[in-house]
Amino acid sequence: LSTEEQAVLEEIEEKNVDFLRLQFTDILGTVKNVSVPADQAEKAFTEGIYFDGSSIEGYVRIQESDMRLVPDPSTFAILPWRSRDEIDGGNSARLICDVHDTSTDEPFVGDPRGVLKDALDRAAEMGYTVNAAPEPEFFLFEEDEKGRATTETNDAGGYFDLAPKDLASDVRRDIIYGLEEMDFDIEASHHEVAEGQHEINFTYDDALSTADNVATFRAVVRAIAAEHDLHATFMPKPIPRINGSGMHTHISLFEDGENAFHDEDDEFNLSETAHSFIAGVLEHAPALAAVTNPTVNSYKRLVPGYEAPVYVAWSDRNRSALIRKPAARVPAASRIEARFPDPSCNPYLAFAALIHAGLDGIENDLECPDPVRENIYEFDEQKREEYGISTLPTNLGEAVDELEDDEVVLDALGPHIAEKFVEAKRSEFQDYLVDVSDWELDRYLEKF
Ligand code: GLU
Ligand code: MG
Ligand code: MG
Repeated sequence: LSTEEQAVLEEIEEKNVDFLRLQFTDILGTVKNVSVPADQAEKAFTEGIYFDGSSIEGYVRIQESDMRLVPDPSTFAILPWRSRDEIDGGNSARLICDVHDTSTDEPFVGDPRGVLKDALDRAAEMGYTVNAAPEPEFFLFEEDEKGRATTETNDAGGYFDLAPKDLASDVRRDIIYGLEEMDFDIEASHHEVAEGQHEINFTYDDALSTADNVATFRAVVRAIAAEHDLHATFMPKPIPRINGSGMHTHISLFEDGENAFHDEDDEFNLSETAHSFIAGVLEHAPALAAVTNPTVNSYKRLVPGYEAPVYVAWSDRNRSALIRKPAARVPAASRIEARFPDPSCNPYLAFAALIHAGLDGIENDLECPDPVRENIYEFDEQKREEYGISTLPTNLGEAVDELEDDEVVLDALGPHIAEKFVEAKRSEFQDYLVDVSDWELDRYLEKF
């Protein structure tokens, strides 16, 4: 055992851990767990834990289904909401795992965490490490008598409102305590623009740890909201005609310990490298959307007027653009903010795709357009044409079409995940197309 693995075994002993949850995600970003008694920890590290991959979305066919989970010791954390449970006395902890293919013993090509590691390897070959920080937004809704989620918000607060209007601040405080117990470094939290909508920000980290953190964050928020009889949802647009929930993603590259995105002499304090990275993300944005905005509902958020981007442009101030350059207090904080991702994405795949698109911009020295400082929502088609601004796909079907035509983003996912992802998303969109919505019934049932 490595010293890190040894330390985990000691902590299991010390903190009275009875159960270990071995965690990984499927291609759609759903967190999966295999629970093992804590005395299996040593075996998990030395031999891995075997499981049947055929029942995991986007993994493999029945005849080649044996997979092995290889726990990453740096991700050991006690699950606070399980451990407050007095029924089983001891604590539960989780370990995030890589998935290996038992036939080759290589990392499994269908493991999203492996795909992100590949993206970071490519960055490393170019001399970069990648930092990322997300801003996940979510809604808190009341549950009905049966404990099922409604779309009734539990407060009527607005942006940065304080209690008593912001009734959810108690819940948010408990969520933050839970996250802190899991070693999150919380920077800020606030009531978002919409009623019942919240945002909690945690400190940036290397992109892999940040993707792990997003997966954990969603689980913690949902579990602790449930303790308050509330349903937390990361669905991008649960209520029409008010703001939806985004997951703005801040990214920077570091080279030899220095921020490779910073340049004191540039008007925007952005280096050539940063400009090319932006150019790469803009160039591939329509295809990236399939990964960063992967649900039918995602495209109900990407409409003008609700602080979510629609147009493919960047800005150093306006929030209607796809990428924004946030003000940075110190050079190390220079970064770009991708505003289009939403919290229904698989964070591993979304970060991997964004990173590859940006690196592609750097590798090919792509030309970065000028920033757009006006509110692009107010541009008409002619003005957008004049500025050379295209739009994001307007629905999931279009996004998947764009993805299928974009070698860079397909390569980012790798052939296995690309194929399964396109297949799953096509069928999701097809299912939506044949459905008849409440909107249609309201509009037509009595009229015709
Ligand atoms: N909720 C907005 C979105 O859909 C973002 C609001 C903000 O700027 O934080 O992305
Ligand atoms: Mg926000
Ligand atoms: Mg933001």
